[in-house]
Amino acid sequence: MSLIITDAHVVTGDADDRRHDRADIVIEGDRIGAIGPGAGRAAAAAPGATVVDGRGLIAMPGLIDAHIHSEEGFQQAVYGNAPLEPWLMQAYSPFGFPLLSEREQYLRTMLAAILAIRGGATTVQDDFVHPPGTPEAQHGAIRAYADIGIRAWSAVDMWDKSFRGSLPWVGKVFGAAELAALDALPMTTTKAQIDLFEHHYKNWNGHDGRIRVIIAPCGPQRCTPDLLHEVDRISKERGIPLHSHCLETKLQAIQAREEYGMTFVEYFAELGLLTDRLTLVHAIWVNERDIQMMAEAGTAMVHNPLSNLKTGAGVAPIRKQLKAGIAIGLGTDGVCTADGVDMVECIHAGAIMHTLGSTDYDEWVSAAEVFRMATLGGARTGLMDREVGSLEVGKRADLILLDRDHWGFIPLSDPVKHVAYSVTSEAVRHSIVNGRIVMRDRQLTLIDEVAIKGEIREAAERFLRDHVSAMREGSKPYLDGMRRMHLKAHAARLSLGHLPRFAESGAQVTTVPWAAPIVALAETAPAARPKRPAAKPKRSTRNAKRRR
Ligand SMILES: [Zn+2]
Repeated sequence: MSLIITDAHVVTGDADDRRHDRADIVIEGDRIGAIGPGAGRAAAAAPGATVVDGRGLIAMPGLIDAHIHSEEGFQQAVYGNAPLEPWLMQAYSPFGFPLLSEREQYLRTMLAAILAIRGGATTVQDDFVHPPGTPEAQHGAIRAYADIGIRAWSAVDMWDKSFRGSLPWVGKVFGAAELAALDALPMTTTKAQIDLFEHHYKNWNGHDGRIRVIIAPCGPQRCTPDLLHEVDRISKERGIPLHSHCLETKLQAIQAREEYGMTFVEYFAELGLLTDRLTLVHAIWVNERDIQMMAEAGTAMVHNPLSNLKTGAGVAPIRKQLKAGIAIGLGTDGVCTADGVDMVECIHAGAIMHTLGSTDYDEWVSAAEVFRMATLGGARTGLMDREVGSLEVGKRADLILLDRDHWGFIPLSDPVKHVAYSVTSEAVRHSIVNGRIVMRDRQLTLIDEVAIKGEIREAAERFLRDHVSAMREGSKPYLDGMRRMHLKAHAARLSLGHLPRFAESGAQVTTVPWAAPIVALAETAPAARPKRPAAKPKRSTRNAKRRR
Protein backbone atom coordinates (compact mmCIF):
# COMPACT_ATOMS: atom_id res chain seq x y z
CA MET A 1 0.00 0.00 0.00
CA SER A 2 1.34 3.38 -0.86
CA LEU A 3 0.52 6.85 0.40
CA ILE A 4 1.39 9.78 -1.84
CA ILE A 5 1.47 13.44 -0.96
CA THR A 6 1.37 15.48 -4.14
CA ASP A 7 2.54 19.00 -4.90
CA ALA A 8 3.48 20.03 -1.34
CA HIS A 9 6.09 22.56 -0.33
CA VAL A 10 8.75 20.26 1.17
CA VAL A 11 11.27 21.04 3.88
CA THR A 12 13.37 17.87 3.99
CA GLY A 13 15.37 18.80 7.10
CA ASP A 14 18.27 16.73 5.72
CA ALA A 15 21.94 17.58 6.32
CA ASP A 16 21.94 19.95 3.34
CA ASP A 17 18.58 21.48 4.29
CA ARG A 18 17.14 20.68 0.87
CA ARG A 19 13.80 22.27 0.02
CA HIS A 20 11.31 21.75 -2.79
CA ASP A 21 8.89 24.45 -3.71
CA ARG A 22 6.52 21.85 -5.12
CA ALA A 23 7.17 18.13 -4.85
CA ASP A 24 5.61 14.73 -4.19
CA ILE A 25 6.45 12.40 -1.34
CA VAL A 26 5.88 8.70 -2.01
CA ILE A 27 5.48 6.49 1.04
CA GLU A 28 5.75 2.74 0.56
CA GLY A 29 4.68 0.90 3.69
CA ASP A 30 6.51 2.51 6.60
CA ARG A 31 9.27 4.18 4.56
CA ILE A 32 9.80 7.06 2.18
CA GLY A 33 10.17 5.72 -1.36
CA ALA A 34 10.71 8.92 -3.33
CA ILE A 35 10.72 12.70 -2.99
CA GLY A 36 10.75 15.18 -5.84
CA PRO A 37 8.73 17.14 -8.36
CA GLY A 38 6.38 14.68 -10.10
CA ALA A 39 7.95 11.73 -8.23
CA GLY A 40 4.55 10.40 -7.20
CA ARG A 41 2.70 10.67 -10.51
CA ALA A 42 2.84 6.98 -11.43
CA ALA A 43 2.31 5.72 -7.88
CA ALA A 44 -0.70 8.03 -7.40
CA ALA A 45 -2.38 6.54 -10.45
CA ALA A 46 -1.91 2.95 -9.26
CA PRO A 47 -4.98 1.18 -7.86
CA GLY A 48 -5.26 1.20 -4.07
CA ALA A 49 -3.00 4.22 -3.58
CA THR A 50 -4.01 6.83 -1.04
CA VAL A 51 -3.38 10.35 -2.30
CA VAL A 52 -3.17 13.48 -0.17
CA ASP A 53 -3.40 16.68 -2.19
CA GLY A 54 -0.44 18.67 -0.90
CA ARG A 55 -1.31 21.97 -2.55
CA GLY A 56 -1.65 24.36 0.36
CA LEU A 57 0.44 22.14 2.64
CA ILE A 58 4.01 22.35 3.90
CA ALA A 59 5.64 18.98 4.58
CA MET A 60 8.31 18.73 7.23
CA PRO A 61 9.98 15.93 9.18
CA GLY A 62 7.87 15.00 12.21
CA LEU A 63 9.21 16.72 15.30
CA ILE A 64 11.05 14.61 17.86
CA ASP A 65 10.39 15.47 21.47
CA ALA A 66 13.64 14.17 22.91
CA HIS A 67 12.67 14.41 26.57
CA ILE A 68 9.25 14.22 28.16
CA HIS A 69 7.82 12.83 31.40
CA SER A 70 4.39 11.47 30.55
CA GLU A 71 3.86 10.52 34.21
CA GLU A 72 3.17 14.22 34.83
CA GLY A 73 0.22 14.10 32.42
CA PHE A 74 -2.36 14.86 35.10
CA GLN A 75 -0.46 17.85 36.52
CA GLN A 76 -0.63 20.45 33.74
CA ALA A 77 -0.61 23.94 35.25
CA VAL A 78 -0.87 22.58 38.80
CA TYR A 79 2.31 24.31 40.01
CA GLY A 80 3.64 27.82 39.60
CA ASN A 81 7.21 28.80 38.82
CA ALA A 82 9.61 27.09 41.24
CA PRO A 83 13.18 25.81 41.21
CA LEU A 84 13.62 22.14 40.39
CA GLU A 85 14.39 20.76 43.83
CA PRO A 86 11.50 22.32 45.80
CA TRP A 87 9.21 21.60 42.87
CA LEU A 88 10.29 17.95 42.77
CA MET A 89 9.55 17.68 46.47
CA GLN A 90 5.94 18.53 45.70
CA ALA A 91 5.31 17.07 42.27
CA TYR A 92 7.11 13.79 43.04
CA SER A 93 6.71 13.86 46.82
CA PRO A 94 7.88 10.57 48.32
CA PHE A 95 5.10 11.09 50.86
CA GLY A 96 1.75 10.37 49.28
CA PHE A 97 3.16 9.27 45.89
CA PRO A 98 0.20 7.79 44.02
CA LEU A 99 -0.10 4.18 42.93
CA LEU A 100 -2.45 4.33 39.99
CA SER A 101 -4.18 1.49 38.21
CA GLU A 102 -2.86 0.43 34.81
CA ARG A 103 -5.88 2.10 33.19
CA GLU A 104 -5.18 5.38 34.97
CA GLN A 105 -1.55 5.23 33.88
CA TYR A 106 -2.76 4.57 30.34
CA LEU A 107 -5.03 7.61 30.44
CA ARG A 108 -2.31 9.81 31.92
CA THR A 109 0.19 8.97 29.19
CA MET A 110 -2.58 9.11 26.59
CA LEU A 111 -3.18 12.73 27.53
CA ALA A 112 0.53 13.47 27.00
CA ALA A 113 0.53 11.57 23.70
CA ILE A 114 -2.53 13.46 22.41
CA LEU A 115 -0.86 16.76 23.28
CA ALA A 116 2.36 15.59 21.64
CA ILE A 117 0.76 14.72 18.28
CA ARG A 118 -1.33 17.90 18.30
CA GLY A 119 1.88 19.79 19.10
CA GLY A 120 3.69 18.46 16.02
CA ALA A 121 5.66 15.54 17.48
CA THR A 122 5.79 12.20 15.72
CA THR A 123 8.28 10.75 18.24
CA VAL A 124 8.54 11.12 21.98
CA GLN A 125 11.43 9.97 24.15
CA ASP A 126 9.58 9.40 27.41
CA ASP A 127 11.70 9.36 30.57
CA PHE A 128 9.17 7.45 32.63
CA VAL A 129 9.66 7.95 36.36
CA HIS A 130 7.86 5.57 38.67
CA PRO A 131 9.72 5.13 41.96
CA PRO A 132 7.60 2.28 43.34
CA GLY A 133 8.81 0.17 40.41
CA THR A 134 5.57 -1.74 39.82
CA PRO A 135 5.27 -3.03 36.24
CA GLU A 136 1.64 -1.96 35.59
CA ALA A 137 2.56 1.70 35.41
CA GLN A 138 4.82 1.63 32.38
CA HIS A 139 2.70 -1.08 30.71
CA GLY A 140 -0.20 1.36 30.77
CA ALA A 141 2.00 4.16 29.46
CA ILE A 142 3.45 2.17 26.57
CA ARG A 143 0.07 0.77 25.60
CA ALA A 144 -1.20 4.34 25.17
CA TYR A 145 1.63 5.02 22.71
CA ALA A 146 0.95 1.75 20.92
CA ASP A 147 -2.74 2.64 20.52
CA ILE A 148 -2.42 6.27 19.39
CA GLY A 149 0.18 5.46 16.73
CA ILE A 150 3.03 7.78 17.76
CA ARG A 151 6.65 6.60 17.75
CA ALA A 152 7.81 6.25 21.36
CA TRP A 153 11.12 5.48 22.99
CA SER A 154 10.02 4.66 26.49
CA ALA A 155 12.83 4.93 29.01
CA VAL A 156 12.69 3.00 32.25
CA ASP A 157 13.93 5.64 34.67
CA MET A 158 15.80 4.29 37.67
CA TRP A 159 17.72 5.32 40.74
CA ASP A 160 18.95 3.38 43.74
CA LYS A 161 20.24 6.05 46.12
CA SER A 162 18.12 7.17 49.06
CA PHE A 163 16.67 10.67 49.19
CA ARG A 164 19.30 11.54 51.79
CA GLY A 165 22.07 10.21 49.55
CA SER A 166 20.99 12.06 46.44
CA LEU A 167 20.87 15.66 47.70
CA PRO A 168 23.47 17.73 49.57
CA TRP A 169 23.15 19.05 53.15
CA VAL A 170 20.07 16.93 53.89
CA GLY A 171 21.23 16.30 57.48
CA LYS A 172 21.59 20.05 58.04
CA VAL A 173 18.43 21.51 56.55
CA PHE A 174 15.82 19.11 57.94
CA GLY A 175 14.84 18.35 61.54
CA ALA A 176 15.16 14.98 63.27
CA ALA A 177 11.55 13.94 62.65
CA GLU A 178 11.76 14.79 58.95
CA LEU A 179 15.04 12.91 58.61
CA ALA A 180 13.62 9.84 60.36
CA ALA A 181 10.64 9.84 57.98
CA LEU A 182 12.99 10.12 54.97
CA ASP A 183 15.18 7.29 56.22
CA ALA A 184 12.13 5.07 56.67
CA LEU A 185 11.09 5.36 53.01
CA PRO A 186 11.13 2.07 51.12
CA MET A 187 13.75 1.70 48.37
CA THR A 188 13.58 -0.33 45.19
CA THR A 189 16.75 -2.42 44.91
CA THR A 190 19.19 -2.12 42.01
CA LYS A 191 18.32 -5.63 40.89
CA ALA A 192 14.57 -5.00 41.01
CA GLN A 193 15.02 -1.97 38.76
CA ILE A 194 17.09 -3.87 36.21
CA ASP A 195 14.52 -6.69 36.31
CA LEU A 196 11.77 -4.15 35.63
CA PHE A 197 13.66 -2.85 32.60
CA GLU A 198 14.12 -6.41 31.29
CA HIS A 199 10.41 -7.08 31.76
CA HIS A 200 9.37 -4.06 29.68
CA TYR A 201 12.10 -4.66 27.11
CA LYS A 202 10.90 -8.23 26.60
CA ASN A 203 7.25 -7.22 26.34
CA TRP A 204 7.44 -4.10 24.25
CA ASN A 205 10.75 -3.43 22.51
CA GLY A 206 10.23 -3.40 18.73
CA HIS A 207 6.44 -3.39 18.98
CA ASP A 208 4.87 -2.35 15.66
CA GLY A 209 8.22 -0.99 14.46
CA ARG A 210 7.62 2.11 16.61
CA ILE A 211 8.05 1.30 20.27
CA ARG A 212 11.47 1.00 21.87
CA VAL A 213 12.38 0.45 25.50
CA ILE A 214 15.51 2.27 26.59
CA ILE A 215 17.26 3.05 29.88
CA ALA A 216 17.36 6.25 31.91
CA PRO A 217 19.55 6.39 34.99
CA CYS A 218 17.75 9.36 36.59
CA GLY A 219 20.90 11.37 37.30
CA PRO A 220 24.47 10.68 38.46
CA GLN A 221 23.67 11.93 41.96
CA ARG A 222 20.75 9.51 42.31
CA CYS A 223 22.44 6.32 41.12
CA THR A 224 25.11 4.10 42.67
CA PRO A 225 28.16 3.26 40.53
CA ASP A 226 26.89 -0.34 40.47
CA LEU A 227 23.64 0.72 38.82
CA LEU A 228 25.44 3.03 36.39
CA HIS A 229 27.84 0.26 35.32
CA GLU A 230 24.96 -2.17 34.90
CA VAL A 231 22.86 0.13 32.71
CA ASP A 232 25.93 0.97 30.63
CA ARG A 233 26.59 -2.73 30.08
CA ILE A 234 23.00 -3.26 28.90
CA SER A 235 23.15 -0.20 26.65
CA LYS A 236 26.38 -1.41 25.06
CA GLU A 237 25.16 -4.97 24.58
CA ARG A 238 21.91 -3.93 22.89
CA GLY A 239 22.94 -0.69 21.24
CA ILE A 240 20.26 1.30 23.04
CA PRO A 241 20.71 4.85 24.32
CA LEU A 242 21.40 5.82 27.90
CA HIS A 243 19.40 8.87 28.87
CA SER A 244 20.32 10.78 32.03
CA HIS A 245 19.53 14.13 33.58
CA CYS A 246 22.77 15.97 34.26
CA LEU A 247 23.72 19.37 35.69
CA GLU A 248 20.28 20.88 35.34
CA THR A 249 20.66 23.11 38.41
CA LYS A 250 23.37 24.99 40.21
CA LEU A 251 22.61 22.86 43.27
CA GLN A 252 23.70 19.79 41.32
CA ALA A 253 26.89 21.51 40.15
CA ILE A 254 27.80 22.51 43.72
CA GLN A 255 26.93 19.03 44.99
CA ALA A 256 29.24 17.49 42.39
CA ARG A 257 32.09 19.77 43.42
CA GLU A 258 31.59 19.28 47.18
CA GLU A 259 30.74 15.57 47.35
CA TYR A 260 32.50 14.11 44.32
CA GLY A 261 35.37 16.58 43.91
CA MET A 262 34.65 16.86 40.18
CA THR A 263 31.84 17.79 37.81
CA PHE A 264 29.17 15.24 36.98
CA VAL A 265 30.45 15.06 33.40
CA GLU A 266 33.88 14.14 34.79
CA TYR A 267 32.16 11.64 37.09
CA PHE A 268 30.46 9.94 34.14
CA ALA A 269 33.83 9.86 32.37
CA GLU A 270 35.56 8.38 35.40
CA LEU A 271 32.99 5.57 35.50
CA GLY A 272 33.45 4.94 31.77
CA LEU A 273 29.92 6.09 30.87
CA LEU A 274 30.79 9.16 28.83
CA THR A 275 30.29 7.60 25.39
CA ASP A 276 28.30 8.23 22.22
CA ARG A 277 25.47 6.12 23.64
CA LEU A 278 24.92 8.60 26.49
CA THR A 279 22.61 11.60 26.25
CA LEU A 280 22.76 14.22 28.99
CA VAL A 281 19.47 16.00 29.57
CA HIS A 282 19.84 19.75 30.31
CA ALA A 283 23.67 20.10 30.63
CA ILE A 284 23.28 23.72 31.75
CA TRP A 285 25.82 23.99 34.56
CA VAL A 286 28.73 22.56 32.58
CA ASN A 287 32.14 24.18 32.31
CA GLU A 288 34.36 24.50 29.23
CA ARG A 289 36.15 21.24 29.98
CA ASP A 290 32.85 19.36 30.38
CA ILE A 291 31.76 20.64 26.97
CA GLN A 292 35.04 19.52 25.41
CA MET A 293 34.83 16.12 27.05
CA MET A 294 31.25 15.60 25.86
CA ALA A 295 32.23 16.57 22.31
CA GLU A 296 35.25 14.26 22.26
CA ALA A 297 33.22 11.33 23.59
CA GLY A 298 30.35 11.94 21.15
CA THR A 299 27.96 12.35 24.07
CA ALA A 300 24.70 14.02 23.02
CA MET A 301 22.42 16.28 25.03
CA VAL A 302 18.82 17.48 25.18
CA HIS A 303 17.95 21.14 25.55
CA ASN A 304 14.66 21.94 27.34
CA PRO A 305 14.00 25.68 27.06
CA LEU A 306 10.42 25.81 28.37
CA SER A 307 11.17 23.75 31.45
CA ASN A 308 14.43 25.59 32.14
CA LEU A 309 12.61 28.91 32.04
CA LYS A 310 9.84 27.76 34.36
CA THR A 311 12.18 26.30 36.97
CA GLY A 312 14.68 29.14 36.60
CA ALA A 313 17.36 26.51 36.04
CA GLY A 314 19.39 28.79 33.75
CA VAL A 315 20.32 29.12 30.10
CA ALA A 316 22.34 26.24 28.65
CA PRO A 317 25.50 27.41 26.82
CA ILE A 318 24.08 26.14 23.54
CA ARG A 319 26.37 28.18 21.26
CA LYS A 320 29.44 26.70 22.92
CA GLN A 321 27.92 23.24 22.82
CA LEU A 322 27.09 23.60 19.11
CA LYS A 323 30.55 24.99 18.34
CA ALA A 324 32.15 22.03 20.10
CA GLY A 325 30.13 19.73 17.82
CA ILE A 326 27.80 18.20 20.41
CA ALA A 327 24.60 16.68 18.97
CA ILE A 328 21.65 18.44 20.60
CA GLY A 329 18.02 17.36 20.75
CA LEU A 330 15.08 19.46 21.91
CA GLY A 331 12.62 18.41 24.59
CA THR A 332 9.57 19.81 26.31
CA ASP A 333 10.50 17.92 29.52
CA GLY A 334 7.83 17.56 32.19
CA VAL A 335 4.17 17.89 31.29
CA CYS A 336 4.03 20.15 34.38
CA THR A 337 7.27 22.08 33.82
CA ALA A 338 6.52 22.81 30.15
CA ASP A 339 2.80 22.59 30.94
CA GLY A 340 1.97 20.70 27.81
CA VAL A 341 3.79 18.69 25.16
CA ASP A 342 3.94 21.21 22.35
CA MET A 343 7.07 21.05 20.23
CA VAL A 344 6.16 24.10 18.13
CA GLU A 345 5.96 26.14 21.31
CA CYS A 346 9.22 24.59 22.47
CA ILE A 347 11.00 25.52 19.22
CA HIS A 348 9.70 29.06 19.68
CA ALA A 349 11.10 29.24 23.22
CA GLY A 350 14.43 27.77 22.13
CA ALA A 351 14.70 30.19 19.24
CA ILE A 352 14.30 33.28 21.43
CA MET A 353 15.68 32.39 24.88
CA HIS A 354 19.37 32.50 23.93
CA THR A 355 19.23 36.24 23.60
CA LEU A 356 19.58 35.95 27.41
CA GLY A 357 22.70 33.79 27.31
CA SER A 358 25.10 36.22 25.67
CA THR A 359 25.35 39.93 25.02
CA ASP A 360 27.16 39.18 21.75
CA TYR A 361 24.31 38.73 19.29
CA ASP A 362 26.52 36.86 16.84
CA GLU A 363 26.45 34.08 19.43
CA TRP A 364 22.67 33.79 19.60
CA VAL A 365 21.00 30.60 18.42
CA SER A 366 19.05 30.68 15.15
CA ALA A 367 15.63 29.32 14.26
CA ALA A 368 17.25 26.85 11.84
CA GLU A 369 19.55 25.55 14.57
CA VAL A 370 16.67 24.95 16.96
CA PHE A 371 14.62 23.29 14.22
CA ARG A 372 17.57 20.96 13.60
CA MET A 373 17.57 20.08 17.32
CA ALA A 374 13.85 19.26 17.08
CA THR A 375 14.42 16.90 14.15
CA LEU A 376 17.79 15.27 13.35
CA GLY A 377 19.28 16.28 16.70
CA GLY A 378 16.51 14.53 18.60
CA ALA A 379 16.85 11.47 16.39
CA ARG A 380 20.55 11.32 17.26
CA THR A 381 19.81 11.34 21.02
CA GLY A 382 17.82 8.16 20.46
CA LEU A 383 20.58 6.69 18.23
CA MET A 384 18.00 6.71 15.43
CA ASP A 385 19.24 9.44 13.09
CA ARG A 386 19.61 6.93 10.25
CA GLU A 387 15.93 6.06 10.58
CA VAL A 388 14.05 9.26 11.43
CA GLY A 389 14.57 13.02 11.81
CA SER A 390 14.52 14.09 8.14
CA LEU A 391 12.59 13.43 4.96
CA GLU A 392 14.94 11.23 2.94
CA VAL A 393 14.41 8.23 0.71
CA GLY A 394 14.74 5.02 2.73
CA LYS A 395 13.96 6.62 6.07
CA ARG A 396 10.84 5.94 8.11
CA ALA A 397 7.87 7.96 6.93
CA ASP A 398 7.38 10.27 9.92
CA LEU A 399 6.17 13.68 8.79
CA ILE A 400 3.85 16.54 9.53
CA LEU A 401 1.84 18.55 7.03
CA LEU A 402 1.19 22.15 7.97
CA ASP A 403 -1.60 24.31 6.69
CA ARG A 404 -0.07 26.99 4.49
CA ASP A 405 -3.24 29.00 4.93
CA HIS A 406 -2.66 29.40 8.70
CA TRP A 407 -2.56 33.08 9.68
CA GLY A 408 0.99 32.71 10.95
CA PHE A 409 2.27 31.77 7.48
CA ILE A 410 1.24 35.12 5.97
CA PRO A 411 3.35 36.30 4.21
CA LEU A 412 5.17 33.00 3.63
CA SER A 413 8.94 33.37 3.79
CA ASP A 414 11.05 30.56 5.26
CA PRO A 415 8.68 27.94 6.76
CA VAL A 416 11.28 27.01 9.39
CA LYS A 417 11.33 30.60 10.65
CA HIS A 418 7.53 30.60 10.71
CA VAL A 419 7.54 27.45 12.86
CA ALA A 420 10.05 29.07 15.20
CA TYR A 421 8.39 32.46 15.43
CA SER A 422 4.91 32.91 14.05
CA VAL A 423 2.71 29.83 13.77
CA THR A 424 1.27 27.81 16.64
CA SER A 425 0.94 24.04 16.57
CA GLU A 426 -2.64 24.60 15.36
CA ALA A 427 -0.99 24.90 11.94
CA VAL A 428 -0.11 21.18 12.02
CA ARG A 429 -3.00 19.69 10.05
CA HIS A 430 -2.00 16.09 9.33
CA SER A 431 0.53 13.84 11.00
CA ILE A 432 2.01 10.64 9.59
CA VAL A 433 3.99 8.13 11.66
CA ASN A 434 5.61 5.03 10.20
CA GLY A 435 3.65 5.57 6.98
CA ARG A 436 0.27 5.75 8.72
CA ILE A 437 -1.90 8.85 9.08
CA VAL A 438 -2.36 9.30 12.85
CA MET A 439 -3.97 12.76 12.64
CA ARG A 440 -6.07 13.97 9.71
CA ASP A 441 -7.45 17.50 9.67
CA ARG A 442 -6.52 17.70 13.38
CA GLN A 443 -8.60 14.62 14.21
CA LEU A 444 -6.70 11.68 15.66
CA THR A 445 -7.44 8.65 13.51
CA LEU A 446 -6.56 5.65 15.69
CA ILE A 447 -8.35 6.56 18.90
CA ASP A 448 -11.76 8.00 19.63
CA GLU A 449 -10.66 11.32 21.02
CA VAL A 450 -14.14 12.43 22.00
CA ALA A 451 -14.92 9.22 23.85
CA ILE A 452 -11.65 9.10 25.77
CA LYS A 453 -11.62 12.76 26.74
CA GLY A 454 -14.31 12.34 29.39
CA GLU A 455 -12.52 9.39 30.95
CA ILE A 456 -9.19 11.26 30.94
CA ARG A 457 -10.78 14.33 32.51
CA GLU A 458 -12.45 12.26 35.22
CA ALA A 459 -9.21 10.43 36.08
CA ALA A 460 -7.18 13.66 36.02
CA GLU A 461 -9.62 15.48 38.29
CA ARG A 462 -9.62 12.54 40.69
CA PHE A 463 -5.82 12.66 40.66
CA LEU A 464 -5.84 16.37 41.41
CA ARG A 465 -8.32 15.95 44.25
CA ASP A 466 -6.89 12.85 45.92
CA HIS A 467 -3.21 12.64 45.07
CA VAL A 468 -1.92 16.15 44.40
CA SER A 469 -3.30 17.33 47.73
CA ALA A 470 -1.78 14.33 49.55
CA MET A 471 1.62 14.95 47.96
CA ARG A 472 1.42 18.63 48.82
CA GLU A 473 0.55 17.81 52.41
CA GLY A 474 3.37 15.25 52.62
CA SER A 475 5.94 17.67 51.25
CA LYS A 476 5.03 20.60 53.54
CA PRO A 477 7.47 19.87 56.39
CA TYR A 478 10.32 19.81 53.85
CA LEU A 479 9.72 22.96 51.85
CA ASP A 480 11.57 25.31 54.14
CA GLY A 481 14.61 23.00 54.14
CA MET A 482 14.48 22.72 50.35
CA ARG A 483 14.42 26.48 50.08
CA ARG A 484 17.47 26.79 52.33
CA MET A 485 19.25 24.13 50.27
CA HIS A 486 18.50 26.03 47.08
CA LEU A 487 19.64 29.39 48.47
CA LYS A 488 22.83 27.91 49.92
CA ALA A 489 23.76 26.52 46.49
CA HIS A 490 23.08 29.83 44.81
CA ALA A 491 25.18 31.72 47.34
CA ALA A 492 28.22 29.65 46.33
CA ARG A 493 30.55 31.01 43.68
CA LEU A 494 30.88 28.91 40.55
CA SER A 495 32.76 30.21 37.56
CA LEU A 496 31.98 28.26 34.44
CA GLY A 497 33.19 30.62 31.73
CA HIS A 498 29.66 31.52 30.76
CA LEU A 499 26.55 32.63 32.52
CA PRO A 500 23.69 30.20 33.10
CA ARG A 501 22.18 32.76 35.46
CA PHE A 502 23.55 36.28 35.34
CA ALA A 503 23.03 37.31 38.94
CA GLU A 504 24.21 34.12 40.58
CA SER A 505 27.29 33.01 38.69
CA GLY A 506 29.71 35.55 40.04
CA ALA A 507 28.71 37.95 37.28
CA GLN A 508 28.64 41.71 37.56
CA VAL A 509 26.55 43.88 35.30
CA THR A 510 28.28 47.07 34.24
CA THR A 511 26.58 49.86 32.34
CA VAL A 512 28.72 51.78 29.89
CA PRO A 513 27.48 55.05 28.44
CA TRP A 514 27.44 53.95 24.80
CA ALA A 515 25.79 50.58 25.00
CA ALA A 516 23.45 48.22 26.79
CA PRO A 517 24.71 46.56 29.98
CA ILE A 518 27.79 44.48 29.46
CA VAL A 519 28.35 41.46 31.65
CA ALA A 520 31.75 40.56 33.04
CA LEU A 521 32.83 37.64 35.14
CA ALA A 522 33.81 39.06 38.49
CA GLU A 523 36.38 36.37 39.15
CA THR A 524 38.22 36.63 35.89
CA ALA A 525 37.72 40.18 34.72
CA PRO A 526 37.78 43.28 36.88
CA ALA A 527 36.54 45.50 34.06
CA ALA A 528 33.71 45.20 31.59
CA ARG A 529 34.59 42.62 28.97
CA PRO A 530 32.22 42.33 26.04
CA LYS A 531 33.82 39.22 24.55
CA ARG A 532 36.08 36.58 26.03
CA PRO A 533 39.40 36.18 24.24
CA ALA A 534 40.02 32.85 22.53
CA ALA A 535 42.67 31.73 25.01
CA LYS A 536 40.34 32.10 27.99
CA PRO A 537 38.82 28.60 28.10
CA LYS A 538 42.13 27.18 29.33
CA ARG A 539 41.70 29.12 32.51
CA SER A 540 38.47 27.41 33.50
CA THR A 541 40.12 24.04 32.78
CA ARG A 542 42.92 24.95 35.17
CA ASN A 543 40.36 26.02 37.73
CA ALA A 544 38.53 22.75 37.41
CA LYS A 545 41.73 20.82 37.95
CA ARG A 546 42.75 22.90 40.91
CA ARG A 547 39.41 22.26 42.58
CA ARG A 548 39.90 18.54 42.28
ZN1 LIG B 1 13.41 15.44 32.90
